Amino acid sequence: MKNYDVIIIGAGSVGVPTAMSMAQNKIKVLVIDALASPGQGQNKKAIGGIRATHSDKGKITTCQRSIEIFSTWKEIHGDDIGWIQNGYSFPAYTDEDAKKLKDLMKIQESFNLDIDWLTPKEYLKIVPGINEKNLKGATYSPRDGSASPLLAINAFYFKSLEYGAQYKFNESVLDILVSNDKKLKITTNKGEYKAAKVINAAGNHARQMGQMIDLDFPVVPDSHEGAITEPVQRFFGPMIVDLRPSQDPDTEDSANFYFYQNNEGQVIFCLTPKHLMRGTASEATSVFLPQVAKRMVELFPKLANLKVRRTWRGQYPMTPDGFPIVGETKEFPEFINAIGLCGQGYMLGPGLGEILTRIATCELTQDDIDVLKHFNLYRDFSGIEQFK
Ligand SMILES: Cc1cc2nc3c(=O)[nH]c(=O)nc-3n(C[C@H](O)[C@H](O)[C@H](O)COP(=O)(O)OP(=O)(O)OC[C@H]3O[C@@H](n4cnc5c(N)ncnc54)[C@H](O)[C@@H]3O)c2cc1C
Repeated sequence: MKNYDVIIIGAGSVGVPTAMSMAQNKIKVLVIDALASPGQGQNKKAIGGIRATHSDKGKITTCQRSIEIFSTWKEIHGDDIGWIQNGYSFPAYTDEDAKKLKDLMKIQESFNLDIDWLTPKEYLKIVPGINEKNLKGATYSPRDGSASPLLAINAFYFKSLEYGAQYKFNESVLDILVSNDKKLKITTNKGEYKAAKVINAAGNHARQMGQMIDLDFPVVPDSHEGAITEPVQRFFGPMIVDLRPSQDPDTEDSANFYFYQNNEGQVIFCLTPKHLMRGTASEATSVFLPQVAKRMVELFPKLANLKVRRTWRGQYPMTPDGFPIVGETKEFPEFINAIGLCGQGYMLGPGLGEILTRIATCELTQDDIDVLKHFNLYRDFSGIEQFK
């Protein structure tokens, strides 16, 4: 049986950058994934948005580090991962929303988030043609950005191999046992492996991993859909997040929606349904595109003639409050969670990978400890994240 310092279950948004960081720190790490190559779970379903514009210290700080990694990747390592610093914006169309966003800015600024309030006139300069009726202004975070989830995970994967990480693909974890020597034994459909520590980064299947050692983690996959258009010349700057739930009978099943133009000029977009679509069924629905298209064109009429190339459906591995679950379990400190990443696993992955490395090497900083308080498995899950 092969022995490792750390085994990571899941070569996804979190598992791969974590393996990269661990291998760089000379940890002997193995990643096991049921699928054929990196990022074939939910990572490839992400639309590529990367923001530090959150409402709590945990996500803000972790994503600030992720942004440093994504934004400097080409300069340091040479690969183009499609990064652009296009920023994120949240326009407000009611006084209540404007107040909510401005109040939140005070918290965000206290964690050093670079965020401004733009007047309607200033906002129209970066999103020319957006619907001006009742526009009260918008927040704008210029350091946020976007990158291709496909290119980024491959870049992280090949770098992790260079640093010495090992991978087993097409191999499903079937059982986890804590042996007498406190090491964890992982049984897959192809073999057995031992490690001093195991990281649960199994995304949609995180709960099943816990059940293998009689622990229950509140992570439930919940479907979301996305779409991408043909590429066109750049005609607006930031990601636009419309926070308003729809009031229109045609689209009333939808809460917020968001879209941006990627480095190739394609517009990529998502819509949050009001009702939950639990489970892992991944056939695209026929309701998503008519709903989201109607809302997008109302908000930004210039989008009207774009051709949509493809729609898809994936899942957010959701927790009840919209915050991830990261850290050791009390029952088995060798079993470490990096689960429940909700709609932000891709943007949190690289920053989280470094924190997980410091958990494994017992080198957590005070900042890490503060961040991990927000992601604690033993919280009461009663809060609701404002931007989940
Ligand atoms: C439409 C859509 C748009 C999104 N847009 C964004 C975005 O713009 N920005 C953002 O940050 N996030 C976005 N997300 C969310 C993001 O995709 C997820 O949060 C993220 O991929 C979760 O990462 P993960 O590592 O937990 O899971 P995954 O990336 O799914 O990785 C988990 C891996 O574990 C493996 N696994 C599971 N069980 C086993 C087992 N028993 N044995 C072996 N391997 C196993 C799976 O095969 C999988 O590869 C979006 C999601 C959707 C659906």
